[in-house]
Parts: sequence; C-alpha cells; structure tokens
Amino acid sequence: MARALDPATRDALVERVRFYRDLGLTEFYRRPVDAALLAEAGTEIPQPFEPQIEGAPSSPSSDSQETPAIPARKPIPFPPQVVTSIEPTDRAAALQLIRDEIGDCTRCALHKGRNKLVFADGDPAARLMFVGEGPGADEDAQGLPFVGRAGQLLNNMIAAMGLKREEVYIAYVVKCRPPGNRTPEPEEANTCSPFLFRQIDVVRPEVLVALGATAATYLLGARQPLAGLRARVHAFRGTKLIVTYHPAFLLRDPRQKKEAWADLQIAMRELGLKPPARG
Ligand code: SF4
Repeated sequence: MARALDPATRDALVERVRFYRDLGLTEFYRRPVDAALLAEAGTEIPQPFEPQIEGAPSSPSSDSQETPAIPARKPIPFPPQVVTSIEPTDRAAALQLIRDEIGDCTRCALHKGRNKLVFADGDPAARLMFVGEGPGADEDAQGLPFVGRAGQLLNNMIAAMGLKREEVYIAYVVKCRPPGNRTPEPEEANTCSPFLFRQIDVVRPEVLVALGATAATYLLGARQPLAGLRARVHAFRGTKLIVTYHPAFLLRDPRQKKEAWADLQIAMRELGLKPPARG
C-alpha cells in the first residue's frame, strides 16, 4: 500500500511526473507508484523507456519572434578568451573577483529597476553550465537564477539528466531584471555579457547549454531563429555549446518539451551521462 505523502511532497511529485510525461519519459519509477498520483498528473502506468537522440529539428517555433533584434552591423564585444585553465579549487575565488568587479553595477539602464543583481548559482567547477536571458521577478527578489516556475522546470530538466542543481552552474546574459520581463536591449546585453564570458572562461564547462534565443544570440554572436541552432553542437570559447528552448517558453508551449529533451540528450551524450534510474 502506498505511503501517504504530505501535500507539498505530493504536489512536487505530481509536477515531476507531469514533466517526465511531457518529455516522453514513461518509466517514472521502478517501484510501484501511487496510481492516483499518476492519474492526477494526467499520465498512465509506466512503460519501458528507451532514450533516443532525435535528428534534425522538425518543429516549428515562435523563436523567430523571440530572437532579439541585434543591429546587423553592430559587433558583439567578445572579450578575449582566457586560455589558461584555472584550477578547480581556485574557480570560486576567481568568480568572486568577477562579482566584486561588477559591484553595485550601474553600467546599463537595467540597474534602475533592479532589486537584486543575479550573478550566478552552482558549482564553480561544473561540467555543465546553463545560460539564460536574464532574471525575472522571483530571481530579482531572491538574487538567484531560475528560482521561479521556469526554475522549477529547469530543476526537473537537470534531474532528468541525472544531475543535481548544485552540480551545474547557471548564469544569465544580463544580471539585472529587464522591466516587465522584456528582452534585453542590445546595448544592455552587450554591456553585461562580457562578465558572462569571463564566468564561462573561469568555470570552463565541458558543455554549455543556451536556454532560448537571447542566450543563443549573444553567445554565438549571430541572430538566427532558434530552430536553426538547435539539435547540434556548436564550438564556443573552447567548450561545446548546445542551444535549446528557454524553460519559460516550454511552460507556454509544453509540446516542445520533447524537442528540449532531445537537445539535453545531446548534452548528456557529450558529457557521457545516461538517464538516471528512477525509484
Ligand atoms: Fe550592470 Fe549587467 Fe546589471 Fe546592466 S544588467 S546594470 S551591466 S550588472
């Protein structure tokens, strides 16, 4: 007989099961699960799961609308790459130096509406790094990246890869919240992104995942619809860059979660990770 769960744990489990269902994962747990919980999550009794790496992107997307408008002739300032590897034990201190340099930043207009500057979260020596567009309301309030609803979805994506959030590193293109969650203006993103590049150079992840069109645009320095950038591995500053949908977009259009999972499986393949056994 299934053990009774407290409401918060149950809600979290329902949300997790929904997420795996949306990814196309059907073997949620190896041990018997609460059928009522699965029913509440809108899914069925699990079937065996065989991970697959899908091929070229096929889905239509609205990313052409989300791709930020970078002036065609305006170069994006890529700071020179740090070629000397920083020892893992020194990376936290190196990142702190960058944070100290940013300080109480007023370099762009986004500082005016900021509550808390959001520098990053996670392991300074992470093998996997995620880059998002910029903080939302929850992140601005807490000073941490991806802590709202999109953050919960990102946490689930990380867990599906067999990792813990503390094992990855998460940062943004802009570190202050754009008003009304609008896309950062090119001047704002170009002013702030050199700090991100330096964070990447310090962490030196084996794989970098750009979440959404804005992150992809400013990392790759090219304005392209997301569909043309997904489902392959890009070379970027000595690491492998994979582009996928922003979790906030996936909340708006859950049908794309399978496509996002295919992208994450490419990242897993590059990292030598296998989907976790659940139970
Ligand atoms: Fe400074 Fe970046 Fe914030 Fe702009 S977004 S004020 S450059 S930390």
